[in-house]
Amino acid sequence: MISEQIKAALAPCGLDCEKCFAHVDGDIRRYSLKLLEKLGNFEVYARRFETLVGDPIFKRYPDFKAMLDYFAQENCTGCRNEQCKLFKNCGVRPCQQEKGVDYCHQCDDFPCEKTNFDKHLYDRWVAMNEKIKKIGIEAFYEKSRGYTRYP
Ligand code: SF4
Ligand code: SF4
Repeated sequence: MISEQIKAALAPCGLDCEKCFAHVDGDIRRYSLKLLEKLGNFEVYARRFETLVGDPIFKRYPDFKAMLDYFAQENCTGCRNEQCKLFKNCGVRPCQQEKGVDYCHQCDDFPCEKTNFDKHLYDRWVAMNEKIKKIGIEAFYEKSRGYTRYP
C-alpha cells in the first residue's frame, strides 16, 4: 500500500508535484516569498546601485522581481487534488483515475499514447515509470528527495 505522503508528492506520471514551481506549498514558492520579503523595496536601491556600483546588472532587477512575483503567487495543490495547472491537456490524470491505478507503470497499457506530453516529457514519463517499476515507489521517492524537479 503506497503511503498518502508519497502519493501527495509524486503524481501518477511520476513527477514530483511538491517540487514544482507552481505548488502552493513547494520550496520554490516558499523561498520566493521569503526572498521578496527580504528584498523589501529593493527596486529603489537597484536604481541607486546601478550608478553607485556601476554594474548594469541592476537594470535587470525588475525582470528578476517579476519572476519572483510569479513564483510567489498562490497556485496549485498538486495533481492528486486538481487538474495540472501547467500541462492543461495532461491526459494521465483523468485516465489514471478511470483505470484505478496509482502510477502509470501499474497499467497494462503502459506506455500508451494518451498522455498528450511532448517528446521531452513523454521520455521522462517512461523513464520515471520504468524506474519506479524496477526499484519500487518508496525507493524512488527516497532517491528523488535530494534532486531538483528540473534536472
Ligand atoms: S499538478 Fe501540475 S502544476 Fe500542479 S503541482 Fe503538479 S506538476 Fe505542478
Ligand atoms: S493508459 Fe496510459 S495514461 Fe492511462 S493509466 Fe495507463 S499508462 Fe497511464
